[in-house]
Amino acid sequence: MKDRIAVVTGGSRGIGRCIALCLAQEAKVIITCVKRWEAAEATVKEIQSKGGEAWAYQFDVSSFEQTQGFFKEIIAKFGRVDYLINNAGIARDGLILRMKEEAWDEVLAVNLKGTFNCIKAVASIMVRQGYGRIVNISSIVAFMGNIGQANYVSSKAGIIGLTKAVARELAAKGITVNAVAPGFIDTEMTASLPEKIKEYMLSQIPLGHFGKPEDIAEVVAFLLSDKARYITGQVIHVNGGMYMQ
Ligand code: NAD
Repeated sequence: MKDRIAVVTGGSRGIGRCIALCLAQEAKVIITCVKRWEAAEATVKEIQSKGGEAWAYQFDVSSFEQTQGFFKEIIAKFGRVDYLINNAGIARDGLILRMKEEAWDEVLAVNLKGTFNCIKAVASIMVRQGYGRIVNISSIVAFMGNIGQANYVSSKAGIIGLTKAVARELAAKGITVNAVAPGFIDTEMTASLPEKIKEYMLSQIPLGHFGKPEDIAEVVAFLLSDKARYITGQVIHVNGGMYMQ
């Protein structure tokens, strides 16, 4: 397992950072970020201080060219990619009556097209290997909707469709593709929510508290493991019971 190569987009902080730390126990980890390079460096140092191996790269997942360039570099250096975790994501909230076209375009470009860009770049590599695991990070709101998040909800619902379509296409090549749909998790993304919204959200969670990044990381690690070899095209909900299928 230690020779496995994992790529975690947006692995510099929040949920991605925690996924990277968790995977570093079993694989070499490459984390990516778009801004705040110092956060990526800190995550790499933290992994190394625990005896793991990690590298950081900076590029924008919404750019097809930059994503292709990144994976070319990875192949030149490491020769393979076993795990891809499409975690990079942004929110630009606003009610539909006020939402600007740019806010729609930006969120769809990073969250949905960014996921496509990475899968597109890695699919041929994994097909050649005859092995690969892809986990896409969606969201509970893809299933429930959310006020003020038409762009974000659409991008995260799109990720579910993308997951199922690609899972069917790549299954025969030894590649599984799954999604994890987190509920409300304590990270920078949710820290900026107004107190009133946080209180309301909390009242909707049967387990009575927000999730931690570790709650997502453990499920991602399971989906990447051999224990999950017969699971593909699925969505795993990790939300404290806030949404039940
Ligand atoms: P975060 O804001 O703390 O981290 C986001 C990461 O994505 C950062 O590392 C950032 O550098 C990277 N990123 C952003 N834009 C990028 C781009 N254009 N190119 C490359 N990297 C880019 O967010 P988080 O809360 O840790 O969320 C991680 C993922 O989980 C996101 O996809 C988010 O939508 C999803 N999610 C989060 C929650 C939650 O409650 N926090 C709930 C459901 C889903």
